[in-house]
Amino acid sequence: MKMPKAVTILGRKFKVVVVSPEKMKAMTGLDLSGAMNFTKRLILIEDSHSKEDMIVTLHHEVAHVVQFITGLAQVTDPNMAEIWCESMANGFLDLHKAIR
Ligand SMILES: [Zn+2]
Repeated sequence: MKMPKAVTILGRKFKVVVVSPEKMKAMTGLDLSGAMNFTKRLILIEDSHSKEDMIVTLHHEVAHVVQFITGLAQVTDPNMAEIWCESMANGFLDLHKAIR
């Protein structure tokens, strides 16, 4: 699986940018593996992890996008949202391994 430069999720195109840990911290103020800015239609993936972990992180950020578009993000406790996104990310990665 390769890292795409952009993804279209429920009709909205998001740019995917792989960044160094330093750049992630500079852009978000936090040490994160991934980040999503819905307003800027931007997904950031930090590059110090394995390729598979970076793909899981992309799946996780896409799950956040789905939550925002569907309104789930607005009604879900943030901790529950993180659990949901990580669960979906790993579930879909398992599926992708089975069908590729
Ligand atoms: Zn998250």
